[in-house]
Amino acid sequence: MKKQIADLEFEPLIESAAIDNRIQAIGKQLNTDYQHTIPVFVGVLNGSFLFIADIIKQIDIPCEITFTKLASYYGGTKSSLKIRDDIDFSVDIKGRDVVVIEDIVDTGNTAHYLLEKLKLKQPATIALCSLLLKPAALLKPIEELKYIGFEIENEFVVGYGLDYKEMGRNLKDIYKRVK
Ligand code: 5GP
Repeated sequence: MKKQIADLEFEPLIESAAIDNRIQAIGKQLNTDYQHTIPVFVGVLNGSFLFIADIIKQIDIPCEITFTKLASYYGGTKSSLKIRDDIDFSVDIKGRDVVVIEDIVDTGNTAHYLLEKLKLKQPATIALCSLLLKPAALLKPIEELKYIGFEIENEFVVGYGLDYKEMGRNLKDIYKRVK
């Protein structure tokens, strides 16, 4: 069913059951990959808040969770290249195995920026887990991107935490812009 959000129209792209299945699979993989350590998950707010919550519930090994806040869209539908950085990082990640949890990798600018910033804190390892990836929009490869929920076309999406003008975050499914 189509959805109107502000001035744009959206139609379903990924249903919540498919999201749940994929998250279970990624969770299993993380439990295996990090079974010999205590990873620190770094959730990137706001868009990932539902993904962070759902993925973390799949983790059954000891772990820590912390949050940071970045924004590059400022309520529009195009990546702005400028990144607003609200990183306030109190957890010491030096020597730790870090997994960054992102909602979506579009141009990759935000991910590169955050990963470089976190690397300065000298973690033992760092990996990126993103629910969505737009391969056609990616400007340069991200070596740390080890866990990907879904690859999608280069289109604007909302729902499951992702917004348009701060709306649509509450939708269970992911929708793509049609108009
Ligand atoms: P990048 O820096 O990779 O271009 O963009 C990353 C950020 O832009 C994401 O964390 C997300 O906040 C926002 N973003 C990118 N693509 C979309 C999209 O299709 N929909 C929404 N709502 N936000 C997006």
